[in-house]
Amino acid sequence: MYINNVKFAKSAHRIDSELVLESVERIQEIGEYKGTIKYTLEGGVDRLNRPTLILSIYGIISALCQNCLQPLEFSIENQTPITIFFNEDQLDAALFSESESDVSDGVLAEDEFDVVQLVEDEVIMLLPYAAKHDSCIGLSYHDEVESPFNVLKQII
Ligand SMILES: [Zn+2]
Repeated sequence: MYINNVKFAKSAHRIDSELVLESVERIQEIGEYKGTIKYTLEGGVDRLNRPTLILSIYGIISALCQNCLQPLEFSIENQTPITIFFNEDQLDAALFSESESDVSDGVLAEDEFDVVQLVEDEVIMLLPYAAKHDSCIGLSYHDEVESPFNVLKQII
């Protein structure tokens, strides 16, 4: 989905849509993350009258615990204001300057701004480095697999 991001912001447009994780190759390369992320992109201007996109995402993700390899679920939820800049220098100055900046994220003005790419980037940023149960039973899963009882079951 492509938008002119400046026009979208200035005319306060809004998109409500979903991202299905199973269909995103970049995310599947990171891990077996499954689920549907709902997102809303809203246009507006900030207090300095700069065009701004507000991206809200919410979803419940299924993954495999990297400790016990059993399924787990976790939710992600985030809202980020993204300021649109008209040239690279302004963007860099806002994002990387030492001085106080009220810009948390920024993009360049584009006629064909890729909304799905933006949402994917945001989801990837929020994914845990290695998904794990909060209180993981850990090795007991492997112990269970190796237990004489299970071995016996397989023989029978
Ligand atoms: Zn676990």
